[in-house]
Amino acid sequence: MPILTAKHAGFCEGVERAYRIALKEIEADKNVFMLGNLVHNTQVVDKFKKLGIKNIKDLSEISPGTTGTLILSAHGVPPEVYEQAKVLGLKIVDTTCPWVKKPQRIAQQLAQEGWQVIIVGDKGHPEVKGLVGWSGGTAIVVQSVDELKQVRLDQEKPLGVLAQTTQSEESFSSIIAYLKQNFKNVKEQNTICGATEKRQSSAIDLAKRVDLILIVGDKMSANTKRLTELCSKTGTETHQIQTAEELNLAWLKGKEKVGITAGASTPDWVIWEVEQKLKTC
Ligand code: SF4
Repeated sequence: MPILTAKHAGFCEGVERAYRIALKEIEADKNVFMLGNLVHNTQVVDKFKKLGIKNIKDLSEISPGTTGTLILSAHGVPPEVYEQAKVLGLKIVDTTCPWVKKPQRIAQQLAQEGWQVIIVGDKGHPEVKGLVGWSGGTAIVVQSVDELKQVRLDQEKPLGVLAQTTQSEESFSSIIAYLKQNFKNVKEQNTICGATEKRQSSAIDLAKRVDLILIVGDKMSANTKRLTELCSKTGTETHQIQTAEELNLAWLKGKEKVGITAGASTPDWVIWEVEQKLKTC
């Protein structure tokens, strides 16, 4: 059975960079703390745990006077985290992706200039929590036009709209279209990252050419979830799996071509294992 892999799949440059930096730090220092998950992938997080990195959810878990290194994840953090980390006196290693730094700067600038910042994104995602922090806590977060309609916006205030880097172009443009129809002053800042855009378009392209498409990536990963949604919309049977063990052979029945793509935080070795399992079917 032909197995086709999407042109752009798996680790993006931001994740690759964060992964490389974290590996270097654990080689250099035995007392390394990671605030949150470096990236949203269980296999990567487990690998770092085995190497000795201590995962913490909050800086309060580190006692004052502790020596070592603190790694900040690729998703970025709100500005106050840098201040709190400095007080602790640890060496700070910031792996925030440059594509995330850009909307952070924009959110801060828009808020300082008096715009109402609107973030198209997922409220619970660490990147979005960071962006809200950079807006001074003033940003409104929505993920759909329906959600936006529930928000009471000041008609007189200019609106500055940006996107979580892993949003779909479709949801960002529908929100922009709605705002432009209903409000006078809307500034659009499309901050969806290049890697996301490439992975989304090549996944859709592949989904249209196969009978079944498998999206390899963690349930925690926002960009993987988006790939699954977009591929499902093409009408092709779509399944998201975290590892080769989750591959259900019944899905392959009657299929002639199978496609594989993967989220930006999925390591090569996990994609490879899925490919190998499919080849034995
Ligand atoms: S998906 Fe985009 S923003 Fe996120 S780490 Fe990769 S390159 Fe950076």
